[in-house]
Amino acid sequence: MGKFDFQRIPAPLLSWYRENKRDLPWRGNPTPYEVWVSEIMLQQTRVEAVKEYYVRFMRALPNVQALAECEEEKLLKLWEGLGYYSRVRNMQKAAKQILAFYGGEFPCDVKALQGLAGIGSYTAGAIASIAFGLPVAAVDGNVFRVAARLEENSSLISDPKYRKYLESTLSAVYPSAGKDCADFTQSIFELGALVCKPQNPDCANCPLQSFCRAYQNGTQASYPVLPAKKEKRQERVYVFLIETPQGICIRRREAGVLKGMNEFPSHVVLGGETPENILNEWGVYAFTEIKRKKYVHIFTHIRWDILCLHVQADSAPFDTYTVDEIDESVSLPTAFKQCQGILYG
Ligand code: SF4
Repeated sequence: MGKFDFQRIPAPLLSWYRENKRDLPWRGNPTPYEVWVSEIMLQQTRVEAVKEYYVRFMRALPNVQALAECEEEKLLKLWEGLGYYSRVRNMQKAAKQILAFYGGEFPCDVKALQGLAGIGSYTAGAIASIAFGLPVAAVDGNVFRVAARLEENSSLISDPKYRKYLESTLSAVYPSAGKDCADFTQSIFELGALVCKPQNPDCANCPLQSFCRAYQNGTQASYPVLPAKKEKRQERVYVFLIETPQGICIRRREAGVLKGMNEFPSHVVLGGETPENILNEWGVYAFTEIKRKKYVHIFTHIRWDILCLHVQADSAPFDTYTVDEIDESVSLPTAFKQCQGILYG
């Protein structure tokens, strides 16, 4: 079989996209800042979940300057629940770089965009094509899936050479510039999200069906080729909701996963230590256990089997906050936020 001709895809995809695109808060004629914020949020998070976060974030921090100057705790609170907090920390670093080196305006150049914190070739391609109308591909999981099926490409999607190949092959067939570039990028994302889905692609309604090799050969399920899944490391963790007359204890994590984030004091169980041993280690000797609850939290590479303990103590070994303060202004990753539910039943 000859080489697949990607030149065939822009025209049918563009007309399909204009008919079928979803109305999303970051669509229309987004600024580079809007594209950036939405794309970073959409990494690892579903569109439906992102919508609300996006609107709230843009209201609080409507431009690069506001983001650069935002206090850390407020920033993390705006991101609370989205996970992968390094994303938002990098965004703030990049915002500071944009202020320092580009007068507060995003550089209109892919290489310069890639020089900003947390911006790789995918995000740079998305900003360049969607906001600046440049003919630059942005290859995400949706694009890998659609492209691999179209040409029945067996490369591993984690292979950097395959990414480079796809970026240059797709960039070469981009419309020349402007709105079509913006729409072409989004049309592939949209096709991957709505039609060429990971499971059960809706080939009957696909504008690329007539020349899709996976469809012709019934091999859709074999593409794209994904790397083997690694086993998650399992850890047993105690999380303590220590309630004192001053409030509930919260501290910063100094190491491990979620380093630098707030937590209800926790401890990874390494041997036979009991919750009481740990509380004693923190100087808490007089306490009453109110309730305990088990739950599981899954990170990318780790599974936490959590035992959450609600205890009342007379003195606080760490900083304390009231429940209202925790809800309104203290950021807590989901792994710990779940534990707060123990207070309500
Ligand atoms: S025909 Fe099916 S497999 Fe091929 S691109 Fe369309 S939805 Fe994906």
